[in-house]
Amino acid sequence: MIPAENQTVARKCVLIVEDDPLSMKVVSAIIAAQGYHVLQAMDGARGFELARREHPDLIITDVQMPGISGLEVSRRLKADEATRDIPIIVTTAYLLDEKEIRASGCDGFMAKPITISEFLELLETIMRMPRAARDID
Ligand code: MN
Repeated sequence: MIPAENQTVARKCVLIVEDDPLSMKVVSAIIAAQGYHVLQAMDGARGFELARREHPDLIITDVQMPGISGLEVSRRLKADEATRDIPIIVTTAYLLDEKEIRASGCDGFMAKPITISEFLELLETIMRMPRAARDID
C-alpha cells in the first residue's frame, strides 16, 4: 500500500524501458512498491518518445532491446538539452565494457540479475539528489 501522503501530483515518476515482459513486471512492481508512479516502454523508440514527452524523474533502461538499444536511448537523451537532466540507470544481463556503458552518459548501471537491496539503494540515492547535482560523469 502506498501511504496516502504520497498519492499526490508530486509523486515522482520512473520510466522503465524493458523488452522482456517478466523483467518489466518485476522491476515495475519494485518501483511501484516504493510509491513511485511507473511508466513503461517495451522498446527503445517508445522509451525515447515517453522520456521526451513525460520528462520522468528517473529512467531505468535495459541495454539489449530490438531496434534502439538502451545505450543509444541514453546517448540521445543526454545529447538533448531538454532531457539531459533526467538520470538514467542502465541494466544489462551481458558483460559489457563499463567504459562503453559510461560513454552513453548514463548515471548508473546494474548487472542483471538485479539485487533488490542494491537496486533500491541506487534508486534512493539518485532520487534524493537535486537535479543540478545529478550530472555525474
Ligand atoms: Mn532485453
